[in-house]
Amino acid sequence: MKYNTFLLFGAPGSGKGTQGKTLGTIPRYFHCACGDVFRSIDTRTRVGRAFLDFSSKGELVPDEVTVELWKEAIAAAVDAHKFKPDIDTLVLDGIPRNIAQAKIMERLIDVKKVFHLSCPNRDTLFSRLKKRALKDNRLDDANEQVIQRRLETYDNESKPVLSHYAKEMITVVDATQPPSKVLFDILASLNGVDGQHEPGTV
Ligand code: AMP
Repeated sequence: MKYNTFLLFGAPGSGKGTQGKTLGTIPRYFHCACGDVFRSIDTRTRVGRAFLDFSSKGELVPDEVTVELWKEAIAAAVDAHKFKPDIDTLVLDGIPRNIAQAKIMERLIDVKKVFHLSCPNRDTLFSRLKKRALKDNRLDDANEQVIQRRLETYDNESKPVLSHYAKEMITVVDATQPPSKVLFDILASLNGVDGQHEPGTV
């Protein structure tokens, strides 16, 4: 059985995590941020060291390791009854992050919709990431060169993922808006998709 899934897609600093966390508080949505999965593992393990190695350079962790770790995190959430695949929708943020991951994950997730949190202005992303480094103690956002590399990695490796999905599945949301407005746009689109709104009924 494939998981019903919505993807939150966008450059580092576009607000995927903020939106994912909020959506995850709504019943029947389960949010999973791949970066959080990586940050939760012991840095003394092989995977933990790989994460430190690659993320400190602004690069992606190799695909096999990433998808395996993600699968384990989802399986643990299912075991703990936090994510109930038969009734919940998975809200993914930060994965798939390149075409190879999108292909590997095809047999695991049934992507219903992709939200592209769009912020074409790199300066906005840059200053958001710098602020976040101070606030959240994020090593990978503390150094300007690493931020630059993270944005390049997004342009070169992640952005092509959008072309992997049919245009009709992608909703572009202006990520420069305040978070509540971004959320509003996402929810409006989801409710249209879900078809749960019946006009004329009380
Ligand atoms: P994030 O918190 O999503 O910005 O992720 C932080 C770092 O974790 C990234 O710069 C990557 O090094 C690593 N990472 C997170 N998600 C993935 C992924 N899907 N594939 C490869 N590396 C990832």
